[in-house]
Amino acid sequence: MDRLLIVEDEIALAEGLKDNFEFEGFEVLVATDGETGMRMALAEKMDIIILDIMLPKKSGFDICKELRARGQGTPIIMLTARTEEVDRVLGLELGADDYVPKPFSTRELIARVKAVLRRSRDKREKQTNIYNVGKIKVDFEHYIAYDRDDHQIDMTFKEFEILKFFMMNKARTVSRDELLDKVWGYEIYPTSRTVDNHIVKLRKKIEEDPETPRHILTVYGIGYKYIE
Ligand code: CA
Repeated sequence: MDRLLIVEDEIALAEGLKDNFEFEGFEVLVATDGETGMRMALAEKMDIIILDIMLPKKSGFDICKELRARGQGTPIIMLTARTEEVDRVLGLELGADDYVPKPFSTRELIARVKAVLRRSRDKREKQTNIYNVGKIKVDFEHYIAYDRDDHQIDMTFKEFEILKFFMMNKARTVSRDELLDKVWGYEIYPTSRTVDNHIVKLRKKIEEDPETPRHILTVYGIGYKYIE
């Protein structure tokens, strides 16, 4: 289910959109001011954001700019009552994916949302840095991981680094010491137990059945081997 955040201070409009998008199968969250919207956009893993421009406390432009500055790439569709070309250009320059002037038909907005989602998925799949790792997809360039439904999942920096190392050393047995050296480097106090703990967590994320791993295999007495 795609998760949609609507940031809109006209409550009747926001509620109406929420109903319509829920009917379309979206999970919808609503924020009615800019600060709350910003907080929710950062805290919740959303698939797309519908963002009004004129908002109390923080404008849609500022939210868009700030999210992009923080490396947050969630697709954004901007709404505005103002129809000047300058808004459209500014919105897109700040990193919005599309722009819908008010008044709009709900049907049109739904179509735009679906188009933007489709586009962002295509783009993601075309990037060469996305790899299938077990049951997940990993974007090593942006340090983002997705499940089968294309929803972002939580991964730590170390987990990304371990997977990257495995991807570069497919089907080769790597010792715990080698992993410690390549992934942890000069950090203080990691032990082979640290490696094992990370492997347990990674298996939970990428393996169908973490108890009987098919990708990250244990090589007894030595370390691990990654099999595609
Ligand atoms: Ca408004």
